[in-house]
Amino acid sequence: MTITVKAIPCLSDNYAWWVRDDSTGICAVVDPGEAAPVLDFVHKEGSGLDWILLTHHHGDHIAGVAEVAREFGAKIAGAAADAHRLPALDAALSAGDDFLLGGANARIIDTPGHTRGHIAFAFASHVFCGDTLFSLGCGRLLEGDAAEMFGSLAALAALPDATLVCCGHEYTESNARFALTVEPQNAALIARADEVRAQRVVGVPTVPTTIAQEKAANPFIRAGSVARLAEIRAAKDSFR
Ligand code: ZN
Ligand code: FE
Repeated sequence: MTITVKAIPCLSDNYAWWVRDDSTGICAVVDPGEAAPVLDFVHKEGSGLDWILLTHHHGDHIAGVAEVAREFGAKIAGAAADAHRLPALDAALSAGDDFLLGGANARIIDTPGHTRGHIAFAFASHVFCGDTLFSLGCGRLLEGDAAEMFGSLAALAALPDATLVCCGHEYTESNARFALTVEPQNAALIARADEVRAQRVVGVPTVPTTIAQEKAANPFIRAGSVARLAEIRAAKDSFR
């Protein structure tokens, strides 16, 4: 039932995620936005690749799919609702579906807001949430509105506290600078911002984070109302 997860840095600040079901050795990569680093990683790992899991249709999450799928003969899973603008899907998934990676189950959560057909894969120990929830931030509202993002963040916040949050980007340091303008007195946020600065100085990924950590320090997940989330999101859009 356990999975092993490793981050694969792609492009300038994306993460693809390598996931192995430990009971069967069946492997997946989430959001291969670039082929070369993923091919390199999987070859070094010697794991083969059974599945490619997609959270949403943006190029920085799918540009490597064709090459990676061809190299390993991997099948592709993504949102049924976005099948028309994703690479051809072998598993077309909808909210509430279970996706089985060998012996490990992921529940599919609809997470609209950043894009309309955005989904998250919630395994027992890890959630792969693409560009919906970032550490100390959330995705831009490119196709959805604040009400949709509010619902998506609430669905992710309802996962167990210890769930590891595997998001699509290394945005945490700039998110921390903005978050501190929203909640300058939040002790959990101040501590997290310090930790993140130290991690980035030595080039260490700041993710995965946990649901508990985000509920304590992320102003978007803590907004409390759609109106407040809209206000914070708009402020972040123009923050430099
Ligand atoms: Zn995106
Ligand atoms: Fe992205």
